[in-house]
Order: sequence, then structure tokens, then C-alpha cells
Amino acid sequence: MSNLSNNFIAGDWVKGSSSISNINPSDTNDVIGEYAQANNAQLEDALNSSQIAQKHWAATGLEQRQAVLMKIGEEMMARSAELGELLSREEGKPVAEGKGEIYRAGQFFTYYAAEVLRQSGDTADSVRPNIEIDVRREAMGTVAIISPWNFPTATASWKIAPALAFGNAVIWKPANLTPASAVALTEIIAKQDIPKGLFNLVMGSGSSIGQALAESPKVHAISFTGSYDVGLQIAGAAAKNLTKFQLELGSKNPLVVMDDADIDVAVAAATGGAFGSTGQKCTASSRLVVHASIHDEFVDRMSQSTSALKVGHALHEGTQIGPVASQQQLDSNLKYMSLAKEEGCEIVCGGEKLELDNPGFYMQPALLVGGNNTMRVNREELFAPMSCVIKVADYDEALSVANDTDFGLVSGIITQSLSRASHFRRNAESGCVMVNLPTAGTDYHVPFGGRKNSSFGPREQGSYAKELYTQVKTSYISSGNP
Ligand code: NDP
Repeated sequence: MSNLSNNFIAGDWVKGSSSISNINPSDTNDVIGEYAQANNAQLEDALNSSQIAQKHWAATGLEQRQAVLMKIGEEMMARSAELGELLSREEGKPVAEGKGEIYRAGQFFTYYAAEVLRQSGDTADSVRPNIEIDVRREAMGTVAIISPWNFPTATASWKIAPALAFGNAVIWKPANLTPASAVALTEIIAKQDIPKGLFNLVMGSGSSIGQALAESPKVHAISFTGSYDVGLQIAGAAAKNLTKFQLELGSKNPLVVMDDADIDVAVAAATGGAFGSTGQKCTASSRLVVHASIHDEFVDRMSQSTSALKVGHALHEGTQIGPVASQQQLDSNLKYMSLAKEEGCEIVCGGEKLELDNPGFYMQPALLVGGNNTMRVNREELFAPMSCVIKVADYDEALSVANDTDFGLVSGIITQSLSRASHFRRNAESGCVMVNLPTAGTDYHVPFGGRKNSSFGPREQGSYAKELYTQVKTSYISSGNP
């Protein structure tokens, strides 16, 4: 078959037992390519070769490991325009966001290149005489990485880079919705001077190859980003083998807007946080918790900024909001719009499917008001360009509504009061807190993760990533008498 991209297994590009077509969500007539689907025997080959390759990689000199990561990162940054366009073509985010994502993904590699040389342990004297203790971290072994489509390159990179930096082998199962970005990143990694089998790409559906990967006793750690339901299945599979794992799941992030907020800052933060990446972000501001005395002005201004957003083809000049990623996601969004109406929300603007010149999964961003925090639209992750304003009487109620959720990834507050900002920062029940900033938008050198049903296991990113990708060894040394 022409235009077929293969899996990368045990150091070779190999065909699968079947293939899928990759369709551009901005224009469904545009078929980006065909992508091989790995079978279970190929997954076994990847797992077996990774066990041997990992031993060689862990024994490779630190400067060589550092150089490999640096080269991957530098190439990604240098090619961010080209690869960003490919990412936007298959995922649907505006091309500036696609380029930014590739550049950021490159930064994860250069950051972790430096981490290779920052691996130091602890020493201690034993409580027994003439015995010294050395505490150091060692690689886990083979790491399974299962990543989503919404940030196909960045999410995978913030897992792959630390996995390699700390001496592990990788089996990567990307989302089937975004295989082109996965192949592009794999091509860059594959041409490095690394042992055959150290890095493997196994494309295929989550329910077949993803599940088999999570269930394999040959996997020593699993890092997963995706939905809560699949996260539970991964947890179950990992627990059966006592495999270490980490989950980054959904959220229902509140952005609190107080009566003393700078309204321009509030509207900019809410618009970007709610609708950036078409709302398909685990950090999206899907609940806007607004003080009653500023409510009407805020809604007016949000209505203007939301209606002004230009929805269009991800690669076209001037597009601010691309299509949603798939027909399935569009159907789910439209169902949530109907539910919002049934539950009693008023639609200020947007929420309808759009027919543009190119056939695609387009939807006008929606602003909802009149909602309360018990409604399903305010409790379930929508992953849609939809945001609901919840009116509150005062700061105490705002904090209580913000925390009244099963999730806890990011919370934000817009206020000019230092005391409210400080109180909120300390009392928000989330892994990340934003003050006078959108809920979306985090750095790469500090930990990222949530509480409650948003995350499980060690934090990702920054130096905290070593908690998943390494294990501690304590050695006792009796050197005898000189
Ligand atoms: P999923 O959780 O289904 O997919 C995430 C990844 O897991 C994909 O690579 C998927 O593969 C894989 N996967 C699916 N089932 C299994 C399984 N049984 N075992 C192992 N891996 C599996 O998310 P969706 O893409 O279906 O999105 C659905 C919803 O999930 C969204 O609407 C959103 O609410 C949430 N989500 C949250 C994300 C976040 O960043 N927190 C990211 C993505 C989604 P494949 O897709 O190829 O089948």
C-alpha cells in the first residue's frame, strides 16, 4: 500500500497486520496517510528487544546519553514549523499552536538532556561502625507510554524524554487519532546512536495493543494520559503485575472571577483557558465561577470575546479555533449542549455545529449561564469548546464551588486582592493553582499533575519525573581496616 507508515520495533520499521487511515479533521477529504497497526507478536518482539537494549543504554556513558537527548530536542525545535503543520493537520489545532507544541516538546528533550548529568544520590554513615551507605537511583527497565491525541507530541515527549534520560527503554503506544505526529517523532529518535530496541513505536487501538501493553509483565512502569475510565483499566492491569504506574486523567477546572478582578485580565484568561485548543485540554477552564456583582458585566464581555473567535481550518491564516478532533468528539459535544439546555442552562452564544467550505468537525464555542455546580455539564469532563458560568455570592462560596468536584488538576482565581489570592492558593484542592492567569499553560521544568480523580502516582515533568522513571537502591559498604 502506498503512503503507509510503519511501526518501529526492535530497531526496524515493520508493517502491521492491518492499517488505518488518518483523516484531517479540518477537511475530511484530506487523507494524511495510512498507518500500520501492530499485532501482539510484534508487541512481544518490542518488549523482548527492549529488555536487552535497556541494559546497554543504562551502561552507556552519561555524556552520550545527554548528547542523544539534546540532538532530538534540537531537531524538533529546528523543525517546529514543518512538524507543527503536520500536527495541526491531523489534530486540528491552529497551526501556531501546533508549532508551539513541537517547540515545547523539543524543550522537554533538552531539559532532560541536562537532567542526565544531574543524577546524584545520597550518602550516609551506618549506625554500625565502619560501614558506609550509598543511596542511588537506577532505571526502572522498560517503560510503557500510552498517550492521547490532544497534545500528541508534547504529552508523549514529557514522558519519553525523562524515561530515556534516566536509563529506561520505551514502548510507545500513541493515540490512533494522531499517528503522523508519532511517526515523525519516532523518525527523529530512530536515527540517533541508540541500541536497537531501546525505543519502540507500536501503533494500534487502545483496546487491543494498548491493553496488551498495560497487561504485560515485561513492563516495569506505565505512564498514561487520557480518560478517567481507561485510566481505571490501566490501574487494574498494572496492579495485577504490581507494575509501578502514573495516570494523568481529566478535570473540571474552575476559574474564579472575583468582584475586584481586572475585567480585561479575567476575560482574556477565561477566553483563552476555555476555548484554546478547542477546549480539548485537561487544563481547560470549563467552570467560570463568577462573583454576583461582576457577573453581568463579565458575561457581556465574555459573550463578545467568545462570539468573535474565528473558527476555521487549522492551517488557514486567521483561524483561532480549529475543528474538534473527531466525529465522535463532535457528537459528544453536541449531546452535552442538549443536556445543558435540559438541565436549565441558558446559551449565551455558540454551541452549534458549523458547516464551512471544507467538510470538517466544526463547532462554534459556547458560553453557558444560569448553571449550578450540581449539573452534569459542570461535573463531567466535556473536552469541548464549552464553558459554563456559575454565579456565586462571595469569596467563600467561590472557593467552595471551585473545590466541589471529583477532579483536581488546576484551579484559577482572578483577583487584585493579595489576601484572597493567597488564601485561594493554599486552599484550592488541585495540583496546580493559577493567580491572574488562565488555567491552561504550564512550564516544563516544574511538576505537573492533579489531585482526586485527575491524577494518580508520581508527578510528571521537572526533576519530579524521576519518581516514576527510577527506583532507589540502598547499598551498605564495609571497607574493612586499611
Ligand atoms: P482514551 O482514554 O480512550 O485514550 C487515551 C489513550 O489510551 C489512547 O492512546 C488510547 O488509544 C489508549 N487506550 C484506550 N483504551 C485503552 C485500553 N483499554 N488500554 C490501554 N490503552 C488504551 O481517551 P479518548 O481519546 O477516547 O478521549 C475520550 C475522552 O477522554 C475525552 O473526551 C476526554 O474527556 C478524555 N481525555 C483526556 C485527556 C487528558 O489530557 N486528560 C486526553 C485525552 C482524552 P486509541 O485512542 O488509539 O484507541
